[in-house]
Amino acid sequence: MASPAVTRFAPSPTGRLHVGNIRTALHNWLWARKTGGRFLLRLDDTDAERSTEAFAESIRGDLAWLGLHPDGSVRQSERFDLYEAAFARLKAAGRVYPAYETAQELDLRRKVLAGRGLPPVYDRAALNLTDVQRAELEASGVAPHWRFKLDHDEPIVWDDLIRGPQKLDPSLMSDPVVRRADGTWLYMLPSVIDDIDMGVTTVVRGEDHVTNTGLQLQMFSALGATPPAFAHEALLTGAEGKLSKRLGSLGVDAFRVAGVESVTILALLARIGTSDPVVAVASPEPLVEGFDFARFGRAPARFDEAELVALNAKTLHLISFEQVADRLPTGMTAAGWDAIRANIATLAEAADWWAVVTGPVVAPELDEADRAFVSRAAEIAEGLDWAEPWPALTGALKAETGRKGRALFLPLRLALTGREHGPDMAALLPLIGREEAIRRLRG
Ligand code: GLU
Repeated sequence: MASPAVTRFAPSPTGRLHVGNIRTALHNWLWARKTGGRFLLRLDDTDAERSTEAFAESIRGDLAWLGLHPDGSVRQSERFDLYEAAFARLKAAGRVYPAYETAQELDLRRKVLAGRGLPPVYDRAALNLTDVQRAELEASGVAPHWRFKLDHDEPIVWDDLIRGPQKLDPSLMSDPVVRRADGTWLYMLPSVIDDIDMGVTTVVRGEDHVTNTGLQLQMFSALGATPPAFAHEALLTGAEGKLSKRLGSLGVDAFRVAGVESVTILALLARIGTSDPVVAVASPEPLVEGFDFARFGRAPARFDEAELVALNAKTLHLISFEQVADRLPTGMTAAGWDAIRANIATLAEAADWWAVVTGPVVAPELDEADRAFVSRAAEIAEGLDWAEPWPALTGALKAETGRKGRALFLPLRLALTGREHGPDMAALLPLIGREEAIRRLRG
């Protein structure tokens, strides 16, 4: 058993959560739960222009709806002192250095390198500036941005919890810019400072961060910290390949509106991309049990909306009345839920069926023979012991008329529910009740 993990989910409040980052949040949550550890929320809001309070709120609300409650949360915009202090240490140690190139200059250099078939690695020209040159640049009004100086001596290696042994050559990487000329922070360094400060033991994120991890591992070590373990998950794709713009932007609100249970989303996102089958669950606990990075493959995880909808129907079959009672139509009983839940794909459909139970229903015109048959059913119903009315009613009608199968059942279903298909009549009829049933059979 792994020791208690501290994980973190670190979205930027510059948009709503979409299916890809819900999955990352979930995996962080599952790992913390499985190891008896803690799941933290970190809002990466150093970009003051693009981050909004409304998005921060929506992220918290979405996590709450999903049931992924953080055990603590921080926002980067409240932690600038911490970054400043760590930055000062790195500066004193010569691990960050000022650079003065403009974006255009850098672009030109990259083009020259590309022209020679070389990788677009920053040439560290700023490291060769003398104190006098730097003073001149600053006197002329050029403020420096700051780069982290990579250590080129050793390859960067780590044992990724999903990808296995990883190795990157730092000499093929540019010293990353960690701070802009206006003093604002880029994502890379504050994230490391926070992971150290928050005691994060396991970073779970998308494989688009693999190169960042290489850079960040050197930052952990420059700050004298033991780095966390890393798990980089393969990206999410749609059923047909790349995640379409529409699917990729699907967020919690879209799922909620479509009537998808939060636990259905969790069940699907916990398992796609693993060697385990997707199974419906009534609560997240069984997902915690089976969660293991070793089960994840390197191939992209396929997110299929049709699978989500089918899984939601299965989820509803498992969910108890108590779990959904506050979202069911008023008056709907536990027996009502038990009768209906096998026939619905979303909870909203429960209201439709409950309306069929409570009536009024509009039955289609029956032909003469069926009309007479249903009227006879009304008479029989009046004399019935109502303990198990459906088998009693159909049994008596079968014996009397010789009808069976569809000819026996369909006219009754149509008269009683107004529909051709639906939940088991044996469960529905007691809910409709004797008087109302007789009224509907009389037509
Ligand atoms: N805010 C970063 C992102 O959303 C966090 C990445 C990380 O998990 O370190 O990409």
